Amino acid sequence: MNIHEYQAKDILQRFGVPVPRGEVASTPAEARAAAEKLGGQVVVKAQVHAGGRGKAGGVKLASNPDEAEKYAAGMLGTQLVTHQTGPQGVPVRKVLIAEATDIADELYLSIIVDGDLGVPVVIASTEGGVEIEVVAEKTPEKLFRVAGDPLLGLSPYHARDIAAALKVPASAQRATAALISNLYRVFVENDCSLVEINPLVITKSGDVIALDAKINLEDDALFRHKDLASLHDPEQEDELELRAHEADLAYVKLDGGRVGCMVNGAGLAMATMDITKWAGADPANFLDIGGSADEKRIEEAFKIIVSDKDVEIILVNLFAGIARADVVAQGIVNAAKETDAKLPMVVAMRGTNADEGRRILNESGLDISAAPDLAGAAEVLRDRLAGMKGGSR
Ligand code: GDP
Ligand code: MN
Repeated sequence: MNIHEYQAKDILQRFGVPVPRGEVASTPAEARAAAEKLGGQVVVKAQVHAGGRGKAGGVKLASNPDEAEKYAAGMLGTQLVTHQTGPQGVPVRKVLIAEATDIADELYLSIIVDGDLGVPVVIASTEGGVEIEVVAEKTPEKLFRVAGDPLLGLSPYHARDIAAALKVPASAQRATAALISNLYRVFVENDCSLVEINPLVITKSGDVIALDAKINLEDDALFRHKDLASLHDPEQEDELELRAHEADLAYVKLDGGRVGCMVNGAGLAMATMDITKWAGADPANFLDIGGSADEKRIEEAFKIIVSDKDVEIILVNLFAGIARADVVAQGIVNAAKETDAKLPMVVAMRGTNADEGRRILNESGLDISAAPDLAGAAEVLRDRLAGMKGGSR
Protein backbone atom coordinates (compact mmCIF):
# COMPACT_ATOMS: atom_id res chain seq x y z
CA MET A 1 0.00 0.00 0.00
CA ASN A 2 1.22 3.40 -0.99
CA ILE A 3 0.77 6.49 1.24
CA HIS A 4 1.16 10.23 0.68
CA GLU A 5 4.32 12.24 1.28
CA TYR A 6 2.78 14.16 4.20
CA GLN A 7 1.78 10.88 5.85
CA ALA A 8 5.22 9.38 5.26
CA LYS A 9 6.85 12.47 6.77
CA ASP A 10 4.67 12.14 9.90
CA ILE A 11 6.04 8.63 10.34
CA LEU A 12 9.63 9.74 9.70
CA GLN A 13 9.30 12.46 12.29
CA ARG A 14 8.00 10.02 14.90
CA PHE A 15 11.16 7.95 14.34
CA GLY A 16 13.50 10.90 14.66
CA VAL A 17 14.19 11.47 10.96
CA PRO A 18 14.30 15.26 10.39
CA VAL A 19 11.83 16.67 7.83
CA PRO A 20 10.95 20.28 6.97
CA ARG A 21 8.14 21.79 9.04
CA GLY A 22 4.90 21.64 7.11
CA GLU A 23 1.14 21.44 7.07
CA VAL A 24 -1.31 19.75 4.78
CA ALA A 25 -4.10 21.80 3.15
CA SER A 26 -7.25 20.88 1.24
CA THR A 27 -8.25 24.38 0.12
CA PRO A 28 -6.36 27.46 -1.13
CA ALA A 29 -7.42 29.32 2.03
CA GLU A 30 -5.94 26.59 4.22
CA ALA A 31 -2.77 26.74 2.12
CA ARG A 32 -2.55 30.46 2.73
CA ALA A 33 -3.08 30.06 6.47
CA ALA A 34 -0.38 27.37 6.60
CA ALA A 35 2.06 29.61 4.70
CA GLU A 36 1.32 32.51 7.09
CA LYS A 37 1.95 30.29 10.07
CA LEU A 38 5.23 28.89 8.69
CA GLY A 39 6.43 32.34 7.57
CA GLY A 40 8.92 33.12 4.81
CA GLN A 41 9.31 31.05 1.67
CA VAL A 42 7.34 27.81 1.40
CA VAL A 43 7.03 24.97 -1.11
CA VAL A 44 3.59 23.95 -2.30
CA LYS A 45 3.59 20.22 -3.05
CA ALA A 46 0.77 18.26 -4.71
CA GLN A 47 -0.03 15.15 -2.65
CA VAL A 48 -0.37 12.27 -5.10
CA HIS A 49 0.83 8.68 -5.15
CA ALA A 50 3.43 9.38 -7.81
CA GLY A 51 6.91 10.83 -8.08
CA GLY A 52 8.20 13.18 -10.73
CA ARG A 53 5.98 15.99 -9.44
CA GLY A 54 8.77 18.56 -9.62
CA LYS A 55 9.06 18.34 -13.41
CA ALA A 56 5.28 18.15 -13.81
CA GLY A 57 4.45 21.41 -11.99
CA GLY A 58 3.42 19.68 -8.77
CA VAL A 59 6.16 21.29 -6.62
CA LYS A 60 6.33 25.10 -6.50
CA LEU A 61 8.35 27.55 -4.48
CA ALA A 62 6.21 30.42 -3.10
CA SER A 63 7.73 33.62 -1.68
CA ASN A 64 4.66 34.65 0.33
CA PRO A 65 1.19 33.49 1.45
CA ASP A 66 -0.43 35.09 -1.63
CA GLU A 67 1.67 32.96 -3.94
CA ALA A 68 1.15 29.84 -1.83
CA GLU A 69 -2.61 30.33 -2.11
CA LYS A 70 -2.36 30.90 -5.86
CA TYR A 71 -0.22 27.79 -6.46
CA ALA A 72 -2.49 25.67 -4.24
CA ALA A 73 -5.54 26.89 -6.19
CA GLY A 74 -3.77 25.88 -9.41
CA MET A 75 -3.10 22.35 -8.16
CA LEU A 76 -6.13 21.41 -6.04
CA GLY A 77 -8.91 19.73 -7.96
CA THR A 78 -6.71 18.99 -10.99
CA GLN A 79 -5.32 15.72 -12.30
CA LEU A 80 -1.53 15.72 -12.08
CA VAL A 81 0.23 13.87 -14.88
CA THR A 82 3.84 12.84 -14.22
CA HIS A 83 6.07 10.26 -15.88
CA GLN A 84 4.95 7.83 -13.18
CA THR A 85 1.20 8.21 -13.79
CA GLY A 86 -0.95 7.18 -16.72
CA PRO A 87 -2.07 9.81 -19.25
CA GLN A 88 -5.16 10.68 -17.14
CA GLY A 89 -2.96 11.48 -14.15
CA VAL A 90 -4.02 11.28 -10.50
CA PRO A 91 -6.32 13.66 -8.60
CA VAL A 92 -4.80 16.33 -6.35
CA ARG A 93 -7.03 16.65 -3.27
CA LYS A 94 -4.41 17.95 -0.84
CA VAL A 95 -1.23 19.98 -0.96
CA LEU A 96 1.61 20.00 1.53
CA ILE A 97 2.81 23.46 2.49
CA ALA A 98 6.38 23.05 3.70
CA GLU A 99 9.00 25.46 4.93
CA ALA A 100 11.44 26.06 2.05
CA THR A 101 14.92 24.62 2.45
CA ASP A 102 18.18 26.18 1.27
CA ILE A 103 19.72 23.26 -0.59
CA ALA A 104 23.49 22.79 -0.72
CA ASP A 105 23.45 19.19 -1.95
CA GLU A 106 20.80 16.60 -2.99
CA LEU A 107 21.49 12.95 -2.09
CA TYR A 108 19.57 9.70 -2.45
CA LEU A 109 18.67 7.17 0.24
CA SER A 110 16.28 4.23 0.17
CA ILE A 111 15.58 0.87 1.79
CA ILE A 112 13.96 -2.07 0.02
CA VAL A 113 13.71 -5.81 0.60
CA ASP A 114 16.25 -7.62 -1.54
CA GLY A 115 14.33 -10.68 -2.71
CA ASP A 116 17.49 -12.69 -3.46
CA LEU A 117 19.19 -12.03 -0.14
CA GLY A 118 15.93 -11.98 1.82
CA VAL A 119 17.03 -8.94 3.83
CA PRO A 120 16.43 -5.17 3.83
CA VAL A 121 19.04 -3.37 1.74
CA VAL A 122 19.98 0.29 2.12
CA ILE A 123 20.75 1.99 -1.18
CA ALA A 124 22.53 5.35 -1.12
CA SER A 125 23.89 7.67 -3.76
CA THR A 126 25.44 11.10 -4.01
CA GLU A 127 23.24 11.60 -7.08
CA GLY A 128 19.96 12.69 -5.47
CA GLY A 129 17.09 14.70 -6.87
CA VAL A 130 17.16 12.89 -10.20
CA GLU A 131 15.56 9.66 -11.31
CA ILE A 132 17.47 6.92 -9.56
CA GLU A 133 16.67 4.51 -12.43
CA VAL A 134 18.82 6.69 -14.69
CA VAL A 135 21.69 6.64 -12.19
CA ALA A 136 21.37 2.85 -11.92
CA GLU A 137 21.52 2.48 -15.68
CA LYS A 138 24.16 5.06 -16.64
CA THR A 139 26.42 5.24 -13.59
CA PRO A 140 25.74 2.17 -11.43
CA GLU A 141 29.08 2.70 -9.64
CA LYS A 142 27.42 5.70 -7.96
CA LEU A 143 25.01 3.46 -6.04
CA PHE A 144 26.17 2.21 -2.67
CA ARG A 145 24.41 -0.79 -1.13
CA VAL A 146 24.50 -2.24 2.37
CA ALA A 147 22.49 -5.24 3.50
CA GLY A 148 20.88 -5.22 6.93
CA ASP A 149 20.50 -8.30 9.09
CA PRO A 150 17.01 -9.61 9.91
CA LEU A 151 18.01 -10.31 13.51
CA LEU A 152 20.67 -7.70 14.24
CA GLY A 153 19.28 -4.88 12.12
CA LEU A 154 21.66 -2.30 10.67
CA SER A 155 24.87 -1.97 12.66
CA PRO A 156 25.99 1.54 13.67
CA TYR A 157 29.22 1.06 11.70
CA HIS A 158 27.14 0.28 8.58
CA ALA A 159 25.21 3.51 9.07
CA ARG A 160 28.54 5.36 9.36
CA ASP A 161 29.83 3.65 6.19
CA ILE A 162 26.77 4.82 4.29
CA ALA A 163 27.12 8.38 5.61
CA ALA A 164 30.75 8.32 4.48
CA ALA A 165 29.78 7.00 1.03
CA LEU A 166 27.32 9.90 0.74
CA LYS A 167 30.33 12.24 1.20
CA VAL A 168 28.41 14.51 3.56
CA PRO A 169 30.48 17.23 5.28
CA ALA A 170 32.31 16.07 8.40
CA SER A 171 30.06 18.17 10.63
CA ALA A 172 26.97 16.33 9.31
CA GLN A 173 28.39 12.77 9.40
CA ARG A 174 27.06 11.94 12.85
CA ALA A 175 23.56 13.30 12.14
CA THR A 176 23.45 11.46 8.80
CA ALA A 177 24.45 8.15 10.39
CA ALA A 178 21.74 8.64 13.03
CA LEU A 179 19.20 9.46 10.32
CA ILE A 180 20.10 6.25 8.45
CA SER A 181 19.72 4.13 11.61
CA ASN A 182 16.36 5.75 12.34
CA LEU A 183 15.19 5.26 8.76
CA TYR A 184 16.05 1.58 9.05
CA ARG A 185 13.83 1.39 12.14
CA VAL A 186 11.03 3.08 10.18
CA PHE A 187 11.37 0.37 7.56
CA VAL A 188 11.41 -2.61 9.91
CA GLU A 189 8.96 -1.49 12.58
CA ASN A 190 6.28 -0.46 10.09
CA ASP A 191 6.71 -3.49 7.80
CA CYS A 192 7.55 -1.33 4.81
CA SER A 193 8.39 -2.69 1.39
CA LEU A 194 9.99 0.60 0.38
CA VAL A 195 11.23 3.74 2.07
CA GLU A 196 12.75 6.29 -0.29
CA ILE A 197 14.15 9.74 0.45
CA ASN A 198 14.88 11.54 -2.81
CA PRO A 199 16.30 14.00 -2.24
CA LEU A 200 17.97 13.73 1.12
CA VAL A 201 19.33 17.22 1.49
CA ILE A 202 22.36 18.86 3.04
CA THR A 203 21.26 22.42 3.79
CA LYS A 204 23.40 25.51 3.39
CA SER A 205 23.66 25.63 7.19
CA GLY A 206 25.04 22.07 7.18
CA ASP A 207 22.00 20.16 8.44
CA VAL A 208 20.71 16.93 6.93
CA ILE A 209 16.98 16.66 6.22
CA ALA A 210 14.51 14.46 4.28
CA LEU A 211 13.05 16.83 1.68
CA ASP A 212 10.83 14.20 0.03
CA ALA A 213 9.53 10.89 1.36
CA LYS A 214 7.94 7.85 -0.18
CA ILE A 215 6.77 4.86 1.85
CA ASN A 216 5.19 1.65 0.61
CA LEU A 217 3.69 -0.61 3.25
CA GLU A 218 3.57 -4.36 2.85
CA ASP A 219 -0.11 -5.27 2.32
CA ASP A 220 0.25 -8.65 4.00
CA ALA A 221 1.47 -7.03 7.22
CA LEU A 222 -1.16 -4.29 7.45
CA PHE A 223 -3.28 -6.39 9.78
CA ARG A 224 -0.80 -5.59 12.53
CA HIS A 225 -0.72 -1.86 11.77
CA LYS A 226 -4.35 -0.79 12.02
CA ASP A 227 -3.36 2.88 12.34
CA LEU A 228 -1.35 2.69 9.11
CA ALA A 229 -4.09 0.83 7.23
CA SER A 230 -6.33 3.86 7.76
CA LEU A 231 -3.94 5.96 5.64
CA HIS A 232 -5.25 4.21 2.53
CA ASP A 233 -6.37 6.64 -0.19
CA PRO A 234 -8.41 4.65 -2.76
CA GLU A 235 -8.79 7.69 -5.02
CA GLN A 236 -5.13 7.47 -5.97
CA GLU A 237 -5.36 3.90 -7.20
CA ASP A 238 -6.06 2.43 -10.57
CA GLU A 239 -9.84 2.04 -10.71
CA LEU A 240 -9.75 -1.53 -12.00
CA GLU A 241 -7.15 -2.64 -9.45
CA LEU A 242 -9.38 -1.15 -6.76
CA ARG A 243 -12.47 -2.99 -8.06
CA ALA A 244 -10.50 -6.23 -8.13
CA HIS A 245 -9.24 -5.62 -4.61
CA GLU A 246 -12.82 -5.12 -3.39
CA ALA A 247 -13.91 -8.38 -5.03
CA ASP A 248 -10.91 -10.14 -3.47
CA LEU A 249 -9.38 -10.80 -6.88
CA ALA A 250 -5.72 -10.25 -7.73
CA TYR A 251 -5.60 -8.04 -10.82
CA VAL A 252 -2.38 -6.57 -12.16
CA LYS A 253 -2.32 -4.09 -15.03
CA LEU A 254 0.67 -4.44 -17.36
CA ASP A 255 1.86 -1.80 -19.79
CA GLY A 256 1.95 -2.21 -23.53
CA GLY A 257 0.16 -5.54 -24.02
CA ARG A 258 -3.11 -6.55 -25.69
CA VAL A 259 -3.91 -9.97 -24.20
CA GLY A 260 -6.10 -10.10 -21.09
CA CYS A 261 -5.24 -13.16 -18.98
CA MET A 262 -7.69 -14.88 -16.62
CA VAL A 263 -6.10 -17.64 -14.57
CA ASN A 264 -6.32 -19.36 -11.23
CA GLY A 265 -3.12 -19.28 -9.21
CA ALA A 266 -0.01 -17.11 -9.30
CA GLY A 267 2.20 -19.80 -10.84
CA LEU A 268 -0.27 -20.37 -13.64
CA ALA A 269 -0.36 -16.60 -14.18
CA MET A 270 3.42 -16.60 -14.74
CA ALA A 271 3.20 -19.55 -17.13
CA THR A 272 0.31 -17.90 -18.97
CA MET A 273 2.30 -14.72 -19.46
CA ASP A 274 5.20 -16.80 -20.77
CA ILE A 275 3.03 -18.52 -23.39
CA THR A 276 1.50 -15.17 -24.35
CA LYS A 277 5.01 -13.90 -25.10
CA TRP A 278 5.78 -17.11 -26.95
CA ALA A 279 2.68 -16.54 -29.07
CA GLY A 280 4.12 -13.17 -30.08
CA ALA A 281 2.09 -10.77 -27.92
CA ASP A 282 2.34 -9.09 -24.53
CA PRO A 283 -0.15 -9.48 -21.68
CA ALA A 284 -2.24 -6.35 -21.01
CA ASN A 285 -3.00 -7.61 -17.53
CA PHE A 286 -3.51 -10.73 -15.51
CA LEU A 287 -6.35 -11.54 -13.21
CA ASP A 288 -6.03 -14.35 -10.73
CA ILE A 289 -9.41 -15.66 -9.61
CA GLY A 290 -7.67 -17.86 -7.03
CA GLY A 291 -9.82 -20.61 -5.53
CA SER A 292 -13.00 -18.73 -6.30
CA ALA A 293 -16.04 -20.98 -6.67
CA ASP A 294 -18.54 -18.16 -6.94
CA GLU A 295 -20.18 -17.26 -10.27
CA LYS A 296 -20.68 -13.59 -9.29
CA ARG A 297 -16.97 -13.13 -8.62
CA ILE A 298 -16.06 -14.73 -11.96
CA GLU A 299 -18.49 -12.31 -13.61
CA GLU A 300 -16.81 -9.37 -11.89
CA ALA A 301 -13.40 -10.76 -12.92
CA PHE A 302 -14.44 -10.93 -16.56
CA LYS A 303 -15.94 -7.43 -16.44
CA ILE A 304 -12.69 -6.04 -15.03
CA ILE A 305 -10.69 -7.64 -17.85
CA VAL A 306 -12.95 -6.29 -20.58
CA SER A 307 -12.94 -2.84 -18.95
CA ASP A 308 -9.21 -2.66 -19.66
CA LYS A 309 -9.19 -0.75 -22.95
CA ASP A 310 -5.92 -2.36 -24.04
CA VAL A 311 -7.40 -5.86 -24.15
CA GLU A 312 -8.08 -7.17 -27.66
CA ILE A 313 -8.23 -10.87 -26.91
CA ILE A 314 -8.72 -12.85 -23.71
CA LEU A 315 -6.76 -15.90 -22.70
CA VAL A 316 -8.43 -18.03 -20.03
CA ASN A 317 -6.16 -20.64 -18.52
CA LEU A 318 -7.85 -22.66 -15.82
CA PHE A 319 -6.71 -25.59 -13.75
CA ALA A 320 -10.05 -26.28 -12.15
CA GLY A 321 -10.03 -27.54 -8.59
CA ILE A 322 -11.93 -25.59 -5.99
CA ALA A 323 -12.78 -23.15 -8.77
CA ARG A 324 -14.96 -25.50 -10.87
CA ALA A 325 -14.72 -25.17 -14.66
CA ASP A 326 -18.51 -25.10 -15.17
CA VAL A 327 -18.91 -22.25 -12.67
CA VAL A 328 -16.12 -20.27 -14.30
CA ALA A 329 -17.58 -20.90 -17.77
CA GLN A 330 -21.05 -19.81 -16.66
CA GLY A 331 -19.63 -16.68 -15.01
CA ILE A 332 -17.79 -15.78 -18.21
CA VAL A 333 -20.86 -16.34 -20.39
CA ASN A 334 -23.11 -14.29 -18.07
CA ALA A 335 -20.66 -11.39 -17.94
CA ALA A 336 -19.96 -11.47 -21.70
CA LYS A 337 -23.69 -11.32 -22.44
CA GLU A 338 -24.33 -8.62 -19.85
CA THR A 339 -21.49 -6.40 -21.08
CA ASP A 340 -22.08 -7.30 -24.72
CA ALA A 341 -18.36 -8.02 -25.01
CA LYS A 342 -17.37 -9.21 -28.47
CA LEU A 343 -13.74 -9.94 -27.70
CA PRO A 344 -12.36 -13.24 -28.95
CA MET A 345 -11.31 -15.73 -26.29
CA VAL A 346 -8.87 -18.61 -26.14
CA VAL A 347 -9.79 -20.99 -23.36
CA ALA A 348 -7.90 -23.91 -21.86
CA MET A 349 -9.77 -25.71 -19.08
CA ARG A 350 -8.68 -28.81 -17.27
CA GLY A 351 -9.73 -30.40 -13.99
CA THR A 352 -13.03 -30.43 -12.13
CA ASN A 353 -16.04 -30.36 -14.49
CA ALA A 354 -13.88 -29.30 -17.46
CA ASP A 355 -16.14 -31.11 -19.97
CA GLU A 356 -19.19 -29.33 -18.63
CA GLY A 357 -17.31 -26.01 -18.70
CA ARG A 358 -16.35 -26.49 -22.35
CA ARG A 359 -19.95 -27.42 -23.24
CA ILE A 360 -21.27 -24.21 -21.67
CA LEU A 361 -18.74 -22.14 -23.60
CA ASN A 362 -19.37 -23.96 -26.91
CA GLU A 363 -23.11 -23.48 -26.66
CA SER A 364 -22.82 -19.80 -25.67
CA GLY A 365 -22.44 -18.46 -29.19
CA LEU A 366 -19.43 -16.42 -28.06
CA ASP A 367 -16.23 -16.21 -30.12
CA ILE A 368 -14.26 -18.85 -28.25
CA SER A 369 -11.40 -21.07 -29.38
CA ALA A 370 -10.92 -24.06 -27.14
CA ALA A 371 -7.45 -25.41 -26.40
CA PRO A 372 -6.61 -28.72 -24.75
CA ASP A 373 -3.78 -27.56 -22.50
CA LEU A 374 -1.11 -24.90 -21.91
CA ALA A 375 0.97 -25.73 -24.99
CA GLY A 376 -2.18 -26.00 -27.09
CA ALA A 377 -3.40 -22.64 -25.80
CA ALA A 378 -0.12 -21.07 -26.89
CA GLU A 379 -0.60 -22.33 -30.44
CA VAL A 380 -4.26 -21.38 -30.65
CA LEU A 381 -3.45 -17.91 -29.32
CA ARG A 382 -0.65 -17.50 -31.87
CA ASP A 383 -3.03 -18.47 -34.71
CA ARG A 384 -5.77 -16.16 -33.48
CA LEU A 385 -3.34 -13.25 -33.13
CA ALA A 386 -2.10 -13.88 -36.67
CA GLY A 387 -5.66 -13.48 -37.88
CA MET A 388 -6.12 -10.16 -36.07
CA LYS A 389 -4.96 -6.74 -37.12
CA GLY A 390 -2.19 -5.24 -35.00
CA GLY A 391 -4.23 -2.15 -34.09
CA SER A 392 -6.61 -1.56 -31.25
CA ARG A 393 -10.19 -2.77 -31.09
P1 GDP B 1 9.22 14.76 -6.80
O1 GDP B 1 9.62 15.48 -8.04
O2 GDP B 1 7.82 14.25 -6.88
O3 GDP B 1 10.19 13.69 -6.43
O4 GDP B 1 9.20 15.86 -5.62
P2 GDP B 1 10.37 16.35 -4.63
O5 GDP B 1 9.77 16.58 -3.31
O6 GDP B 1 11.54 15.42 -4.68
O7 GDP B 1 10.78 17.76 -5.23
C1 GDP B 1 11.37 17.86 -6.51
C2 GDP B 1 12.52 18.86 -6.48
O8 GDP B 1 12.03 20.13 -6.09
C3 GDP B 1 13.61 18.52 -5.49
O9 GDP B 1 14.57 17.62 -6.01
C4 GDP B 1 14.23 19.89 -5.22
O10 GDP B 1 15.20 20.18 -6.21
C5 GDP B 1 13.06 20.83 -5.40
N1 GDP B 1 12.57 21.25 -4.07
C6 GDP B 1 11.66 20.61 -3.30
N2 GDP B 1 11.53 21.26 -2.10
C7 GDP B 1 12.38 22.31 -2.14
C8 GDP B 1 12.75 23.36 -1.21
O11 GDP B 1 12.28 23.46 -0.08
N3 GDP B 1 13.68 24.27 -1.64
C9 GDP B 1 14.27 24.20 -2.85
N4 GDP B 1 15.16 25.12 -3.18
N5 GDP B 1 13.97 23.24 -3.74
C10 GDP B 1 13.04 22.31 -3.40
MN1 MN C 1 11.43 13.28 -4.94
